[in-house]
Amino acid sequence: MTGVKQVKISGIEISQHRLEFAPPFHASWDSKPRHHWDATIVRVHTDAGLTGIGSGDLMLGFAGHEELFVGEDALAIERHYRVLSHINFHYGRCWPLDLALWDLAGKITGQPVWKLLGGLADKVRAYASSGTLRGPAEMAEVAERYLAQGFRAMKIRFQRGDWRDDIRALEAVRARVGDRLELMVDCNQGWRLPHDTYAPWTLKDAVAVGRELEQLGVYWMEEPLHRADRAGMRRLREMVDVRIAGGEMTRELTEFRDLIVEGCLDVVQPDAALVGGITGLRRVALMAQEHNLVFTPHTWTNGMGVMANAQLVAGVADAPYLEYPYDPPEWDLDRRDYMMAKPLSLDAEGAIPMPDAPGLGYALDEDRLARTRVG
Ligand SMILES: [Mg+2]
Repeated sequence: MTGVKQVKISGIEISQHRLEFAPPFHASWDSKPRHHWDATIVRVHTDAGLTGIGSGDLMLGFAGHEELFVGEDALAIERHYRVLSHINFHYGRCWPLDLALWDLAGKITGQPVWKLLGGLADKVRAYASSGTLRGPAEMAEVAERYLAQGFRAMKIRFQRGDWRDDIRALEAVRARVGDRLELMVDCNQGWRLPHDTYAPWTLKDAVAVGRELEQLGVYWMEEPLHRADRAGMRRLREMVDVRIAGGEMTRELTEFRDLIVEGCLDVVQPDAALVGGITGLRRVALMAQEHNLVFTPHTWTNGMGVMANAQLVAGVADAPYLEYPYDPPEWDLDRRDYMMAKPLSLDAEGAIPMPDAPGLGYALDEDRLARTRVG
């Protein structure tokens, strides 16, 4: 034993919150309009009086497993990761607990997490991730507004039914912004919500779209095929020049290993709030780096999830841009970050500055959380 005092986990508290809103948000990847935005908040309490906080997936199946953590050394993060990966196998995705443990590790050591992870960069450039489908003229206006706010990159959704209509929206944006904005396209073919039963694109659909994207100088083509179609992704990657991105909801780290080793992706996009936590994705980020691929997480949860992923990227990865879910008026900071004491915002150059505060650098709006609590 060293003389260092161990900080022990004394309790885990999970609460569910719901912000109701009107008008609804029409997410391009969901056939049902969204009338509310749910948040799961995980707090890890310790015998030292420090509390780590995380948010992200719903923590389904965690109830009853608290005793596997209570009384344990808070900094035994690899041990906790193994338990969470077993829970992930048997039940739901409980990775917000891993984010809370990293927040706690930062608070125990007095350092921001991005420094504990490697301290590679003190800010992360963001790309504006649009979420709703608009006509070509309106998309061009949206792009102009992003530019005015400092963004240098934007992601456009392709889910208008016929991809030729999507191409028209993309063409309108490119015609308006020229090379002032880097453009990404999300085809959203990797997975569906439980109620959406239509089929994903075939390889030939994806090749036809990919060739159009090449012409329009698109930076990456995201989820062009079903997540399990590794052979299709590999062939598509060889057939078109545009970078192929994917993996946002892919569940197992071994699947990322296979996607990387088999040459299926140029851009690897797991989300620490939904897959593997920071502990697991640190491995994926390094794996991607060793294969000269881009690692840049999906972040479509809330500002706490964006920040957790940003800290991971700032610590270890060279991501050119990180996703920043933002599509006002339907998807603004008031909705996205209602659980936070201060919404996560960007600097004038469209970058997320890395906080100096110990941990993950965010705080909760306790009054708002009390008013929105549903479980
Ligand atoms: Mg996506």
